[in-house]
Amino acid sequence: MIEVFDEDLHAGVNLALEVGEILYREKTEHQDLMIFENNRFGRVMSLDGAVQTTEHDEFIYHEMFAHVPMLAHGKVERVLIIGGGDGGAACQVLKHKTVKATLVDIDRTVIDLSAKYMPTVSDGAFDDPRLEIIVADGCQFVKDTDQKWDVIIIDSTDPHGPGEVLYSAEFYADCKTCLTDGGVIVTQNGVPFVQGEELRNSYDRLGALFADVSFYMAAIPSYVGGALAFGWATDNKDLRKIETGKLAERFLDADIETGYYSPEIHQAAFVLPYFVQKILTAEKD
Ligand code: SAM
Repeated sequence: MIEVFDEDLHAGVNLALEVGEILYREKTEHQDLMIFENNRFGRVMSLDGAVQTTEHDEFIYHEMFAHVPMLAHGKVERVLIIGGGDGGAACQVLKHKTVKATLVDIDRTVIDLSAKYMPTVSDGAFDDPRLEIIVADGCQFVKDTDQKWDVIIIDSTDPHGPGEVLYSAEFYADCKTCLTDGGVIVTQNGVPFVQGEELRNSYDRLGALFADVSFYMAAIPSYVGGALAFGWATDNKDLRKIETGKLAERFLDADIETGYYSPEIHQAAFVLPYFVQKILTAEKD
């Protein structure tokens, strides 16, 4: 009898994945963590019943999460990753040879088990001396720290459970105090087709704090419901106006091999479908 992993993250929409072998299943201090084999996606990590990352499609998500803000900025020295305990964002960030990164995740077990069972995702990032790992609530961390970063990547679970605070106006305001002048924040902001309200909430909350707020999109096969939106927030309006040729120069200099990201896709990702634009501009009742 084949066991099936059944994700019911969005009302009326389920994702069913055949479970080959369950490699790990435990309630950590914070979340229900499961890692299992699937014949299409390879090893899959879920937290509280929601797919977090899979071996075979994580490159799309993590390349777009890291390279879009870093290549648009062009002079990144320090990156803060809130969440991201699977190490995928850290892996892509550290491909930029001159940067240092800080990863703040609430759940040490996610980090340890991702390294153990899904090592291709972090690909050695956890052992890179340029990465500082801090186990803490990201919301409290940005409130307490006096450090600043050029890029802040909010690689959180969805706004339920421990991840909920990472979508609050208070958290975004505290992140802004941790950003260097002209720095940029990018967020995991869900699939607009089934998470439109979350998208609009982030848009409004970030819009109250930053001069330039938008989204860019990429389709991640294991995230059900269509293309995923990454939130974009900065006071430097020029970052989104960068020429493709300039991006291509920086991409070449960075000498990074990618499977999804390209300067052309970077630019195109910011072109939002009309239904997403309507979510952002609709009159609020
Ligand atoms: N790609 C995934 C997605 O789109 O949902 C996110 C992946 S990553 C595994 C999510 C991480 O957020 C987890 O490691 C979890 O422990 C972390 N997390 C959740 N709430 C947090 C909080 N308040 N502070 C820091 N990390 C948090």
